Amino acid sequence: PPFCGGLLHVKEPGIFVCVVCGLPLFTTDHKFDSGTGWPSFYREFDPEHVARKPDLSYGMVRTEITCARCGAHLGHVFDDGPPPTGERHCVNSAALRFYARGRELPPESQPVKTEVAYFAGGCFWGIEHYFQQGPGVLDAQSGYMQGHVDHPTYEQVCSGTTGHAETVKVTYDPKRISYRRLLQAFFDMHDPTQENRQGPDVGEQYRSGIWYVNEEQKREALAFIAELEASGRYGKRKIVTKVEPAKTFWPAEDYHQDYIAKTGRACHVKNPW
Ligand SMILES: [Zn+2]
Repeated sequence: PPFCGGLLHVKEPGIFVCVVCGLPLFTTDHKFDSGTGWPSFYREFDPEHVARKPDLSYGMVRTEITCARCGAHLGHVFDDGPPPTGERHCVNSAALRFYARGRELPPESQPVKTEVAYFAGGCFWGIEHYFQQGPGVLDAQSGYMQGHVDHPTYEQVCSGTTGHAETVKVTYDPKRISYRRLLQAFFDMHDPTQENRQGPDVGEQYRSGIWYVNEEQKREALAFIAELEASGRYGKRKIVTKVEPAKTFWPAEDYHQDYIAKTGRACHVKNPW
């Protein structure tokens, strides 16, 4: 029943797993106060982990949500939630178990071993928006990288004095999408032959870059660029994309996250999927 679930007021970062089978279902990143007395989330941890089916009980047309692995009843999803999804996953506390971030999850909660990739392709709004839609991408986040100032603000980065590039951090399931497919999407979304600019956005912070986290990514990125150059896709124009080891990722301010989805603004970035 509402207001007596133990997990209603949990705000500390962490993951909610299925109480029956341990599958990760929701995170506090997507939790919001719906005022209903039920734990509410605007998005699943991963859409593949939460199944939906019509529920016609009580003379209402609702959509029931269940654990995709074990079928346990979780609650319902409604379309009156906040941006960016507009959805409200209304979940029974008793269906969930909470693990604070940093606490080790049980083995059954770790079916997905995620990896991270970083791409700078000009203004991060559109790049984040489309990476977020990639099949197998669990999260895309806007931020700043490769500069020399800690905790940079948008204003500082815009001034062009901190050395940062607007960058999107992509968290993905390598069993469902490859790093190579992410590279393809990245090059479909931006023009790697423009030096320190993308379209109307001019400045070093808009440079094209791949910030690799291991030697495998470096090798794949360089090989992919060599292939693109050999393909003649850009004519005589040279690919100026930088390939460098990743430095610290500084997440951008909240208002930049999911900017296109929240504002409905048009975006010149092409959908790569
Ligand atoms: Zn389950």
